[in-house]
Amino acid sequence: MTQWQPLQSLSLENDFSRLPGHLYTRLDPTPLPDPRLVSANPKVAEMLGLDPCSLDPELLAGLLGGHQLPQGAQPLAMKYAGHQFGIYNPQLGDGRGLLLGEQPVNGELWDWHLKGAGQTPYSRMGDGRAVLRSSLREYLIGEALTHLGIPSTRALALGVTSQKILRERVEPGATILRISRCHVRFGHFEHLFYTRQHDDLKLLADYCLQRWYPECLEAENPYLAMFRAISKRSAEMVAGWIAYGFLHGVMNTDNMSILGETFDHGPFAFIDRWKEDAVYNHTDQESRYAFEQQPYVIHWNLSALGQALTPLIDVELLKEELNRYSGYYNKAYLQRMRDRLGLALSDPGDKDFIRRWRALLNSNQADFNPLYRALSEAQTEEDGKPVINRLDVAAWQTMLADWLPEYEARLALESRSSADRKQAMLQTNPSYILRTHVTTHLVDQAEEGNFQPIHDWLKILQNPYEEHAGFEEWKRAPDSKRLIMLSCSS
Ligand code: AMP
Ligand code: MG
Repeated sequence: MTQWQPLQSLSLENDFSRLPGHLYTRLDPTPLPDPRLVSANPKVAEMLGLDPCSLDPELLAGLLGGHQLPQGAQPLAMKYAGHQFGIYNPQLGDGRGLLLGEQPVNGELWDWHLKGAGQTPYSRMGDGRAVLRSSLREYLIGEALTHLGIPSTRALALGVTSQKILRERVEPGATILRISRCHVRFGHFEHLFYTRQHDDLKLLADYCLQRWYPECLEAENPYLAMFRAISKRSAEMVAGWIAYGFLHGVMNTDNMSILGETFDHGPFAFIDRWKEDAVYNHTDQESRYAFEQQPYVIHWNLSALGQALTPLIDVELLKEELNRYSGYYNKAYLQRMRDRLGLALSDPGDKDFIRRWRALLNSNQADFNPLYRALSEAQTEEDGKPVINRLDVAAWQTMLADWLPEYEARLALESRSSADRKQAMLQTNPSYILRTHVTTHLVDQAEEGNFQPIHDWLKILQNPYEEHAGFEEWKRAPDSKRLIMLSCSS
């Protein structure tokens, strides 16, 4: 039984601030006018052991607006650096977010981070604020990814203020209470490496080992073991992105969590139609972060982290470890793709089979999510042999004509019954994903003061494998094949 506590009796710790003071700056949020709660996330409350019924809207609005702090909170802005689009930028840090403190839950610490909390010493030219458009997208994508089994930061609550913010246009300001076990980025280590603060680099690495990778302390070389664990987790994360068509958009090393969670959601998108070279971020002129590039970018980012860890780990060992990345990625990726196709066994031919499947999706720019769902429904048997019910996939009959016999031949290698496969596939292939035209609709509604669609979509994304009456039209890609470009500004 979960022992729920009310929000009021919550008390945060300040564990990160045990680290040397130049790694952060302590400061309080700058209050926002007329803060209002837009949405509170009962599932995240439950995850934190908080009573979802005690999520008092006024109290949350006070927290979101920077008027109130949880007990024990001593907010701080973290200093980090990072490679942005391949170029090193030493000037980064929490420019608009504050770590309020950490909540102990069942022996682990969960960070409470207020994003949009006002200017900090790391704001550079920025206003320290966030807009409703991007905050709402970040609030929901955390749920969408989590419920597809892809690690991501989440958020306890989303709030809006009467303060208007200038981006490409004037927009309502907003904040989120971001929740994650970890806010340490690759860029934290890069900052300490490039400023030659190698003693503090070791202190930070020891902190990370103790807090997030205690099992690595047993290894012969704990730092190398931690680097391996980060590499594996990052590989598993991006494998999930590829299998579900998620595009992060700004994979700078300051946006890479050392816990392998999808982090700092900006111009992200789920691709509507399969397109290997899709780019949505209009700042990404060179397509550095194109959909199909993402696994390679993670490797590049891990190399940047490895470089920063050279004072602690022998270079040759780091290189060997980086060479293992493709193995970690391929294993995780094939597993994800097999799961989506209902393949419980692994067969030596799977790699090629899956490569051809992806090429087929790409050449047809297929609206692949409803297709996976239809393939799940279509699992049946004839004379004890697995077959695909052609009626279920009729909408794709031309595209699938040659492929279905191949798929059926592959299914014949399986020992699992078609009924069991169907059941598993229906829990793997969602009916609903957070498509970009959905977020656009939600932003339009929210900016007009209608938050009901956000409440609806929170529930949908937390139960994406179920049917949701009245929302069927959002299952399909929009008619236009033109990509909706997204702005980095948030
Ligand atoms: P991002 O592109 O969101 O990962 O941000 C890159 C860097 O710019 C980080 O150091 C952010 O804290 C900072 N930043 C982004 N937007 C703002 C803003 N509106 N005000 C201050 N700093 C910002
Ligand atoms: Mg960032």
